[in-house]
Amino acid sequence: MSADFLFKFLVIGNAGTGKSCLLHQFIERKSLDSAALATLQVSTVAGGHGPDSVVEASLPVTESPSRETYNALTNWLTDARMLASQNIVIILCGNKKDLDAEREVTFLEASRFAQENELMFLETSALTGENVEEAFVQCARKILNKIESGELDPERMGSGIQYGDAALRQLRSPRRAQAPSAQECGC
Ligand code: GDP
Ligand code: MG
Repeated sequence: MSADFLFKFLVIGNAGTGKSCLLHQFIERKSLDSAALATLQVSTVAGGHGPDSVVEASLPVTESPSRETYNALTNWLTDARMLASQNIVIILCGNKKDLDAEREVTFLEASRFAQENELMFLETSALTGENVEEAFVQCARKILNKIESGELDPERMGSGIQYGDAALRQLRSPRRAQAPSAQECGC
């Protein structure tokens, strides 16, 4: 499958929240709809150094049945923002949605937290697969929107984005591929 862009994702959260299961669900069922422009390069690293560690999206994972995993969220967000590019897109995944009867954190409470911290928010289940693909796709869409609006420049050093295919780069960046017109300053 060819890709227009490669984004690096960081999946973080307390041990046992379901990070490995979420990735497994996503990768095994990787049925991204054909309109999806990005190939998602998934990484579970909790750290790392050098340019390769720059991430564009982060998925802090909590469990709705465990308040403790929400209490740790502020620290995880600080880590994510430290490791990531300035324009990081973050989606809070309230995992184990299927264990609804055992929940300690309500949907409303979690969505308020997300709103106050400018995070997207989804409740997921790595067991049933509910909302798992959506979490990754919503992140990718938001990054693509930022690229299209010019808020994010994939060519800037440390943007965290790589082009997936040099030929597509020419096709999709006509502004840069074209020579400056007579009216434009060429410097
Ligand atoms: P990690 O430490 O964050 O990578 O967590 P794991 O992916 O290893 O999951 C920890 C435990 O939670 C395992 O026993 C999983 O089977 C279970 N688990 C993960 N996601 C879900 C979920 O959405 N629903 C339920 N019921 N169990 C889950
Ligand atoms: Mg794990």
